[in-house]
Amino acid sequence: MTLMEDSVGVGDLVLLEPLEEEPLLKNLQLRYENKEIYTYIGNVLISMNPYQQLPIYGPEFIAKYRDYTFYELKPHIYALANVAYQSLRDRDRDQCILITGESGAGKTGEVPGLGRLCSHCWNHPLISFRARPGLAPPQKFLPTFSDSEGYGAGMTGVKESGGDPCEGFSCTEASKLVMSYVAAVCGKGEQVNSVKEQLLQSNPVLEAFGNAKTIRNNNSSRFGKYMDIEFDFKGSPLGGVITNYLLEKSRVVKQLEGERNFHIFYQLLAGADAHLLEALKLERDTSHYAYLNQKVSRVDGMDDASNFKSVQNAMTVIGFSEVEIQQVLEVTALVLKLGNVELADESQANGTSASGIRDGRGVQEIGEMIGLNSEELEKALCSRTMKTAKEEVVTTLNFTQAQYARDALAKNIYSRLFNWIVNRINESIKVGSGEKKKVMGVLDIYGFEILKDNSFEQFVINYCNEKLQQVFIEMTLKEEQEEYKREGIPWTKVDYFDNGIICNLIEHNQQGILAMLDEECLRPGVVSDSTFLAKLNQVFSKHGFYESKVTQNAQRQYDHTMGLSCFRICHYAGKVTYNVNGFIDKNNDLLFRDLSQAMWKAQHPLLQSLFPEGVPTQTSLKRPPTAGAQFKSSVAILMKNLYSKNPNYIRCIKPNEHQQRGQFSSELVAVQTRYLGLLENVRVRRAGYAYRQRYGPFLERYRLLGRSTWPRWNGGDREGVEKVLGELSLSSEELAFGKTKIFIRSPKTLFYLEEKRRLRL
Ligand code: ADP
Ligand code: MG
Repeated sequence: MTLMEDSVGVGDLVLLEPLEEEPLLKNLQLRYENKEIYTYIGNVLISMNPYQQLPIYGPEFIAKYRDYTFYELKPHIYALANVAYQSLRDRDRDQCILITGESGAGKTGEVPGLGRLCSHCWNHPLISFRARPGLAPPQKFLPTFSDSEGYGAGMTGVKESGGDPCEGFSCTEASKLVMSYVAAVCGKGEQVNSVKEQLLQSNPVLEAFGNAKTIRNNNSSRFGKYMDIEFDFKGSPLGGVITNYLLEKSRVVKQLEGERNFHIFYQLLAGADAHLLEALKLERDTSHYAYLNQKVSRVDGMDDASNFKSVQNAMTVIGFSEVEIQQVLEVTALVLKLGNVELADESQANGTSASGIRDGRGVQEIGEMIGLNSEELEKALCSRTMKTAKEEVVTTLNFTQAQYARDALAKNIYSRLFNWIVNRINESIKVGSGEKKKVMGVLDIYGFEILKDNSFEQFVINYCNEKLQQVFIEMTLKEEQEEYKREGIPWTKVDYFDNGIICNLIEHNQQGILAMLDEECLRPGVVSDSTFLAKLNQVFSKHGFYESKVTQNAQRQYDHTMGLSCFRICHYAGKVTYNVNGFIDKNNDLLFRDLSQAMWKAQHPLLQSLFPEGVPTQTSLKRPPTAGAQFKSSVAILMKNLYSKNPNYIRCIKPNEHQQRGQFSSELVAVQTRYLGLLENVRVRRAGYAYRQRYGPFLERYRLLGRSTWPRWNGGDREGVEKVLGELSLSSEELAFGKTKIFIRSPKTLFYLEEKRRLRL
C-alpha cells in the first residue's frame, strides 16, 4: 500500500483517475520533480532518467528489496529484478526483461549488469559478491569499467562529488542495475564469480565497438542487444548468450554534426602505447583520419585512453588470446586506413569513366598490414567483375562508384568484426548443452523512432517495436487471463487495439512490404526505389494502415506534408512517413564480389574469416539473404524466445533533450508515453479489475473499517475481508473474491476505502 501512501502521486498508474493522457503526464511529472523516478503499471516498471545520482541504490537497498514483496516498498527497479530472479530460481520459470525507450532514456543503464561494484559495495556484508581469488577489490577512485560504460564518466552533471561512497561506480546508478542486483543476490564461489566477471566484462568490450557519442546521448548504444543469462538449479550463473541486432554501420564512414564514430577508434588512438601505435602504423592524432569527424574528437569527461586499457583488460578476462586482441585491433586500424584511401576521377576525354587511387602509399600500407598484394586491392576497389554463364567481364568503376565501394568495404569489415566479437564472447561464456538451465533474457533495444527523415533503418526498427508491442499486449492479456483463472474469477473479453494487421502489412511472407522489397531486389531488369514504391501503392491502395501520395490522391485527400517518394504507415504509436530512397540499396547490402574475394585472399586470419563468401571456388551465384530478410528472421527468433518466457517490462523515458537533471518537458514525455503505448497498457491492465491484493494484507489494512473486524478478528482472512466490505455495502459489481485475492474493479472504490481509513485514523 506504500504505493499510494508514501509516494508522490500514484505509484501505480492503474490507480490513476481519470485515465487520460494529461493526468498521466502530471502524475509522472509530480513524481519526477520529487525524485520518484520509478512508477508501476501493475508489474510494468516505468523509469525516468534522473540524470543524476540518486541515493536509492547500493547494498542496503538491494537487501531491502530482496526481503520484501513487490508492493510493499516504493516502486524500484530492484523490486522488478527481485520478482524476476526469485521466480526464476524458486518457481523455475524462465524470465525475460524487456527494456525499451528512446535513445538516452536510460535503457543500457538498466541492463543487467554489468555494473562494477565499488569497494564499499563490494565489501558490504549484505552482498555476496566477491572477487575472483587474485582479483583485488576495486580501489575507490581507480579508473573503472563504469568509465567505459559511460556512467559517471561520460556525463557531465551526472557525477556528484560528496560523501557518496559509490561515486563514479555503476552500482549506484541505473547502470546495469538489474544485473548488479542479480549479481549481488545470486550464488557465490570461485567458479560463479569467474562467470560473473566474464559476463560483466562483455559490456565494456561491446560498448567500445558498438557505442558512440550522439547528439542525444554521449554513450549511445548503436546496436540492439539481447542477452540470455543462464543459471543452474540453485540460481547461480553459468554463462550466457548474446545476440546483437542491426549495428548502425553507416556511422563507420559518416557521422552527423556533433557526433562521433564508434568509441573504439578514439580509444585506440588515445590509449595505444607507442609500440602498438607503431606496429599498427597509426597516427595518434584523430585529425589524421577521414572517417573521424574532425570537429568532435573528445567527449566531456570520457577518458578514451584509460577506457582503452579497460577494454584490453576486459578482452583478456573474457578469454581473447593476445593474438586475437592484436588482430582485432589490426582490423580496426584497417578501417581507419581505408577511409584515407583517396580516389581520383580518371575518366577519359572520350567519355569512358574510370577511377584510380590518388596516392599509392596508403594502399601499399594496407596491403602490407593485411598480407595482400596492393595491386589486387587497388583493382578490387576500382573495378568490378561481372560473371555471366560464359564469360567474365571487367568494368571500371567511376569515381562515385569507387567511393561507394570503398565505404561499403569499410562498413562491411567493421560490422562483421562486431559480429565476430559477439560470437567470440559467446564462445567464452557459453554453457554446455547437457546442463539443465534456467534462463533470464534481457533485451536492450532501440525504441520506436520517428525522425525528420525516416529511411530503411527506422522502418526495420519500428517493425521490431511493432512486434514487441504485439508480444506485450498478448502476454499481458494472457497473464491477466491466467491470474483470473487461477483465482477462479470469470474472464470478460477485453477490447484492445490488435496491431497484428500492421505487423502483417510489413512481414507477410508474400504480401508484406519486406517480401515485396526482396522481390524487387531480386527481380531482373531495371529496378529502383520508385518501382518498389509503385508496387506498394498498387498492392496496398486499399489497406487501412498504408498511405502514400497516390493512395491519398485517389481518395481525394491532399496532404502536402507527404513527399512523392514516400509511403506512410500508421503504426500503433503513430503515423510514420518513410522515404523510399535507398531502400533497395540498403536491403541488398551488396558488397561487390571483387572486394570480398580480395579480403578472403588477404593473409590475415581474422580478416579472411570475416569474408567466407570470398572463397574463389564458390561458384554458386546464390546471393546471401537481404538485410530485411535477415532482420525479419532474427526478430522472429527473438519473438519465439520471448514468448517462451515470463516477461518483465521496463519502459524508459527521457524527461528532456538536454541530458539535464530536474527538467521535465511535458511534450517530449507525452510523445514517449504514446510510443510506449502506456495508456493502452493501463487500459488493458485495468480491463477487468484495476486492483488486487492478497486477503491477509488487505484485511490488515482495512479491518479498522469493519464493526465485526475491529478491534479484534479471529476468523480467516477471506471471511474478514468479506465482512468489512459487506458492511460498507459496496456494489457487488465492484468486487470479486478470488481464491487468494480480493479484486476491485475501479480505482474509485479503492480511493473510497483509503479515504475512510484516513478519517478513522
Ligand atoms: P539508452 O541506453 O536508453 O540510450 P543510457 O542508458 O545510455 O540510455 O543512459 C543515458 C545516460 O543517462 C547515462 O549515460 C547516464 O548518465 C544517465 N542515466 C541513465 N539512467 C540513470 C540512472 N538511473 N541514474 C543516473 N543516471 C542515469
Ligand atoms: Mg543504450
